[in-house]
Amino acid sequence: MPEFVEIRTEPEEEKPELDVPFELLNLDLLKPHEELDPNELEAFIESVTGSGIFWKAALISKEGYVILDGHHRWAGLKKLNAKVMPCILLDYINNPEVKVYTWYPFIIGSLNHLIKVLENIKEVELIYENNKNVVFEMVKNMEAAFGLIHSNSNKDFIIITGNDDPYDLQKIIIKHLINDQEIQLGYIDTIKGAEDLISQGKAVAYFVRRAPTKQEIVERASRGKVYPPKTTRHSLPFVPKKIHVPLEKLLNP
Ligand code: AMP
Repeated sequence: MPEFVEIRTEPEEEKPELDVPFELLNLDLLKPHEELDPNELEAFIESVTGSGIFWKAALISKEGYVILDGHHRWAGLKKLNAKVMPCILLDYINNPEVKVYTWYPFIIGSLNHLIKVLENIKEVELIYENNKNVVFEMVKNMEAAFGLIHSNSNKDFIIITGNDDPYDLQKIIIKHLINDQEIQLGYIDTIKGAEDLISQGKAVAYFVRRAPTKQEIVERASRGKVYPPKTTRHSLPFVPKKIHVPLEKLLNP
């Protein structure tokens, strides 16, 4: 099984389950807003081909048919030559029930090695800063692509900037991290959770980043541009009930 680490400190299972209607939408109609994580793509393909059943409808915005949740299902089905995907269409931009957050990348492995990797990325400039609030503020204001909060109390935190658009810079950095054999990249849903990983010694560092707004997401997707993998984490006050659609029906609708 490919390694893909995703930690939810706010489990979806604790939300009420709701029977939400879904429809089979043409894969070519849908617009991604994020790059893929190759390991998560592989994991989905193994799962759906192994069981032959598709059980989790994707969430799609009525505005512009943007994929809010379901990038790997969409790309995986495309790879399998499917034509359609089960989708829940949501009023998005003005719907307060749909919230957008981000995933925080974290690193398991050596902090020194991680810093060396970052130092060797030519597009990246590292600024050392001992006040965590300054790091957070710069990320919030989009003056930094990432802030790196780490476990070494003798070393300042790191602000990661560069000339590129902050999200494009994030893409470059994430690619380097995915390709590095000596560290493992994971994602966690909250800063509190990421801080706990560090204090418990389960991770050596995490990256803070700002979640884009709904308007930015729809706008970027409609320009055909995407964010780095797992930039957005969309949340509903309920969990749509599992569905049970044979893969065969998506291949030959
Ligand atoms: P994403 O499509 O980006 O949300 O990432 C892949 C998702 O597919 C994960 O949330 C998995 O829970 C989900 N998944 C895994 N196996 C299946 C399956 N057989 N049918 C539908 N969804 C699945």
